[in-house]
Amino acid sequence: MNIVILGPQGSGKGTQATMLAEKYNLAHIETGKLLREIANSDHPRSGEIKNIMNNGLLVSDKILGEVMVGVMDNQKDKAGFVFDGTPRNLEQYNLIKKILNEKGETLDKVIVINISEDETIKRLTSRRSCSVCGRVYNIITNPSPNGDLCECGGGLVQREDDQPESIKKRLQTYHERTSKVIDLAREDGILEEINGERPIGEIFNDIVKLVEKINGKN
Ligand code: AMP
Repeated sequence: MNIVILGPQGSGKGTQATMLAEKYNLAHIETGKLLREIANSDHPRSGEIKNIMNNGLLVSDKILGEVMVGVMDNQKDKAGFVFDGTPRNLEQYNLIKKILNEKGETLDKVIVINISEDETIKRLTSRRSCSVCGRVYNIITNPSPNGDLCECGGGLVQREDDQPESIKKRLQTYHERTSKVIDLAREDGILEEINGERPIGEIFNDIVKLVEKINGKN
């Protein structure tokens, strides 16, 4: 089973993708996290990638393709993939379909989690992540019980690209490019849209219902 979870930054797509990956034994392909890991490593392109990310721009489809293929080839024990953070444009949508096709697989669903722009800005400016284990909190809706520290004891930091100016650029890019992906997924007959301004469990139940349809259980 191969699923794309789409939504603006802060829509909770990462949380839903993580839950989905766990429930159905899927490999969670989270491109933002993969790229952040490379940006913070001694990879030859780390400086270039970091600069692009901190400016709220997209890394090239070529770099993204290389990163994704490398990770996807390493997931043979999984029952499929859940993509989170990609596709961000038509080229990436076609790339995902091509990579899956080469593995004898198809893309089954594109699930879009919708939230308003005000809600995105509110959620992202209050997001904090652990500098040690990467766990994500929200100082309003999901604070750490340890205050300024993560439950593992690590310090909580704000992502460099979660500043208002960067968020606005990322949102603009999301709407400009992703709307075309949504149109194509609709044409392909695999698009589903979900209201993301609800409790996490409620959204997940809706996603599970859609996914069970792929499994032919409904
Ligand atoms: P995210 O964590 O998904 O908000 O991604 C953080 C940053 O990583 C983005 O602003 C981009 O610079 C880069 N990035 C993540 N996913 C992609 C992608 N699919 N294509 C290009 N750039 C990406």
